[in-house]
Amino acid sequence: LASNEWKKEPTKVSVKDVEIGGDKIVVAAGPCAVESEEQVETVAKAVKRAGASLLRGGAFKPRTSPYSFQGLGEGGLKILRKISDEVGLPIVTEIMDARDLPLFKQYDIDMLQIGARNAQNFTLLKEVGKFGKPVLLKRGMANTVEEWLQSAEYLLSEGNGNVVLCERGIRTFEKATRFTLDIGGMVAAKMMTHLPMCADPSHPAGKRELVHSLALASVAAGADMLIIEVHPNPEKALSDSEQQLTPESFEVLMNRIKALANAL
Ligand code: PEP
Ligand code: MN
Repeated sequence: LASNEWKKEPTKVSVKDVEIGGDKIVVAAGPCAVESEEQVETVAKAVKRAGASLLRGGAFKPRTSPYSFQGLGEGGLKILRKISDEVGLPIVTEIMDARDLPLFKQYDIDMLQIGARNAQNFTLLKEVGKFGKPVLLKRGMANTVEEWLQSAEYLLSEGNGNVVLCERGIRTFEKATRFTLDIGGMVAAKMMTHLPMCADPSHPAGKRELVHSLALASVAAGADMLIIEVHPNPEKALSDSEQQLTPESFEVLMNRIKALANAL
């Protein structure tokens, strides 16, 4: 069902009034993790002003160490809903456990992210497929393009066609970046599917100095959407502190993205 042999026309995914896969590049921006209402409010207003059309932020965080900040859970969803309504940006946030779906329904979360670590959690994929809200499906860090598309198939075969694929970097031997943003794999996947394509330049970069270049490279390579981490005070962030952009740097990047998109 994800193959463009089965469906020729490109799919457009609507998240409220935001259309992904159309002529405009859609940018989702916000903190790695929801930390407080003030943090989300500050950053949401800043990214909206700079031209973002979706608000990202994790309430349930998949952390490598159980002793690291795990996210605010339900409290985080509550903050996202409140600030989303106040600022007027639909939300994209990660679901890690199907048992939390009732909370995602209660707070009427606009788009559900399946993170890289759950990209082959097939029971979660099936349940999220049944749930019906648009999904941002990250590529697993050790998944081939073929496996990634099969994960999308789990969502589509449950009746949910509103799926956006997201390249977020894969594990390679290279240590100069956190992950290797697989631009070639992203382009190859785009040639095999009708689903829109998102790129996450933040997680493969690992350092904020690299984020602009990876974002621009993704746009040049045909990404329909970008998801970018922005924090009002990145040094103080409770997760992914090194890779989050300041609101000022994000605004500069948005202007560069617009200039590049116009030139393409
Ligand atoms: C995130 O978006 O903050 C995240 C944890 O992403 P990934 O699953 O790609 O690591
Ligand atoms: Mn993160």
